[in-house]
Amino acid sequence: MKSVGITSMKQLERPESAALEQSSFEELVREMLARLGEDPSREGLTETPRRVAKSLEYLTHGYQQQPAEVLNGALFSVDYDEMVIVKDIEMFSLCEHHLLPFFGKVHIAYLPKGKVIGLSKLPRLVEVFARRLQVQERLTTQLAEAIQEIIQPQGVGVVIEARHLCMMMRGVEKQHSAAITSAMLGAFRQQSTRNEFLSLLRQKTSNGF
Ligand SMILES: [Zn+2]
Repeated sequence: MKSVGITSMKQLERPESAALEQSSFEELVREMLARLGEDPSREGLTETPRRVAKSLEYLTHGYQQQPAEVLNGALFSVDYDEMVIVKDIEMFSLCEHHLLPFFGKVHIAYLPKGKVIGLSKLPRLVEVFARRLQVQERLTTQLAEAIQEIIQPQGVGVVIEARHLCMMMRGVEKQHSAAITSAMLGAFRQQSTRNEFLSLLRQKTSNGF
């Protein structure tokens, strides 16, 4: 079914593409339901296109936000130069390959250099990047780079543990395995700092991973 869909997309003539571009998001979802073999007019599905459009809009609202806006005004000057660590930040995102959810926990640490950020801002920063179409590796790197750029600490470490429905539902991977990614910048590239961060993470209570 997939290859048929791709072929017919390639074969579209210009007038048809134009029609496609002018279709509302809801019309496109209705068409998708029909292509899946459903009857979009049956009772249970009549509101589905509207719901899917709203839901996808919410799940990708990170495109409307910029990291600097979220973190603006939340920087404080401090003498503190020990590691700041925020563990177990809830994360929900959509994989850009299948538009299926991946979700898990984000752990962030940084070594301040005169400035710290309000702790509640880090989960908001995670939202900015997670509420977009993503791959876990890029999400990890983008978070680390944004923190490095905005707080300008001695270094930053980000670890993400996540489960991907595109793998779990399609049986690509064992259902309980989590993908783990990390990005280490600045001082976190040094073995001692990295080890301190990772051992602090291991102290966490079991959260299902
Ligand atoms: Zn995927």
